[in-house]
Amino acid sequence: MLRADLCLEFVNTRYWRGQAEPTETLNTPEDLATWTASQGGPRTSRPPARREFERALELRETLHRLFDAEAQDKAPGARDLEALNQALAAAPARVALRRERGAYGWDVDAKSGTALALLAPVLWSAGDLLAGARLDRVRRCANPECGWIFLDDSRAGRRRWCSMQSCGNRAKAKRHYHKVKKG
Ligand SMILES: [Zn+2]
Repeated sequence: MLRADLCLEFVNTRYWRGQAEPTETLNTPEDLATWTASQGGPRTSRPPARREFERALELRETLHRLFDAEAQDKAPGARDLEALNQALAAAPARVALRRERGAYGWDVDAKSGTALALLAPVLWSAGDLLAGARLDRVRRCANPECGWIFLDDSRAGRRRWCSMQSCGNRAKAKRHYHKVKKG
């Protein structure tokens, strides 16, 4: 199954983007291959070449800028949209479904081992999300240091935090602390 927010999961492989030193989870080409496999994406027998890995990280930052702009109701950068379009055009075609363990998935020809082959499902999910009905549900965590981008699938559509377990609770505790201090 192609998750609607797969592209956002990819964007969030770098997080705490509002801090001086964001947390990077994709440090090596092996990390990228492991990540795509863990998301049900293409599996490769060997990790991508260093250049392809760097290309993948560039694409991730392009996607981050596009969705971050949407989360803030800003117009996307023309260059970013162009970069995504070029990647979509050069990625393996979305032509065949396969059925595995009771679920359907898109078959990706990842033999080339390029960034675009590895990231094809991410690119498709980005295109579907940008052109789909749920684009106005793309949010950025209200904690400015966090910057996590997520799809708000709550019924009311008022989710503000990446997850209440982390940023939301931290913000609540902070407010409480200030209140107690003032009082
Ligand atoms: Zn957060």
